[in-house]
Amino acid sequence: MSTAIYPGSFDPVTYGHIDIITRASGMFDHIIVSVLNNPSKSPLFTVEERVTMLKECTAHLKNVEIDSFSGLLVDYAREKNCHIAIRGLRAMTDFDYELHFAQTNFTISKGDLETVFLTTDLAYSFLSSTTVREIASFHGDVSELVPKYVCKCLYKKFGYEN
Ligand code: ADP
Repeated sequence: MSTAIYPGSFDPVTYGHIDIITRASGMFDHIIVSVLNNPSKSPLFTVEERVTMLKECTAHLKNVEIDSFSGLLVDYAREKNCHIAIRGLRAMTDFDYELHFAQTNFTISKGDLETVFLTTDLAYSFLSSTTVREIASFHGDVSELVPKYVCKCLYKKFGYEN
């Protein structure tokens, strides 16, 4: 069975992430979307909230599992007996960071963890969680950027209705 892990912050999950998850779920038998618990960042949503949002938004994809992890991706992947990481590429600005991340993981896993890149759907190439958080913080309408459930969570977090 082919399994791939899609790691990320997902703070919160956007239509850009969902597009990558949907396409990856058609390429592999099993996808583990895993929220990175990064203590050096101060996220808007807790890991539990991000996991719940991802579960709500991917419930229709039967081969997608939602999880979370701390520490090194290579250690987590080994624990899951998985040799493929999925990452999304939006623009050249992503490329430097993603190349570094992929090469580091390949090296420190001694060639055990490959990274597969999916290029963004053009419709979502501008879209990031940072943008979504920024718009929502000013009480803007994010309904074109994230699913309804995530909209509600954002409106609740920032104390407004749209
Ligand atoms: P971000 O805060 O930039 O959305 P994440 O850590 O949540 O970052 O992203 C996880 C992965 O998803 C990364 O590989 C990132 O490049 C990718 N990604 C994020 N947004 C999009 C998008 N709109 N289209 C395609 N890939 C994306």
